Amino acid sequence: MAGEPQDDCLFCKIVDGSIPATIVRETETTVAFRDINPQAPTHVLVIPKAHHRDAAALAAAAPELAADVLRETQAVADEEKLESYRIVFNTGSGAGQTVWHAHAHVLGGRGLEWPPG
Ligand code: AMP
Ligand code: ZN
Repeated sequence: MAGEPQDDCLFCKIVDGSIPATIVRETETTVAFRDINPQAPTHVLVIPKAHHRDAAALAAAAPELAADVLRETQAVADEEKLESYRIVFNTGSGAGQTVWHAHAHVLGGRGLEWPPG
C-alpha cells in the first residue's frame, strides 16, 4: 500500500537501516544519501521515508511530503555549496528509473549539459 514500507524495496531498507548508505541529511520525513554510482562530484538522492513508487505517485498521494523532498534538495545543494545544480526525478523505466521508491537526484559540482541524455 502507498506509504507503507515494502519488503522488496532497496530504499525502504536504507530508511530502516538494514542496508547501509552514506547519509548526508535526515529529517522526520526524508533521508538524503550519496548515490552509490555518482554521476557528478555531488550526487545525492533525496527520498521520502514513506514508500511511493515514483514522483507522480508521491505528489498525488502526499503533496506535503513531496514538498519536503523538494525542500531537502535545496538544503543538500546549500550544504554542498552548489551554485548551480540539477534535480532529476527519473519517472518510468524508459526514463531510466530503476528503483521504484520515489527519489530526487541532486547533481552538481560540474558543468551539466542541456538537453540531458
Ligand atoms: P534511478 O535510476 O533514477 O531509479 O536511480 C536509482 C539510483 O540509485 C541510481 O543512481 C543508483 O546508482 C542508486 N543506487 C542503487 N543502489 C544504491 C545504494 N545501495 N546506495 C545508494 N545509491 C544506490
Ligand atoms: Zn520503498
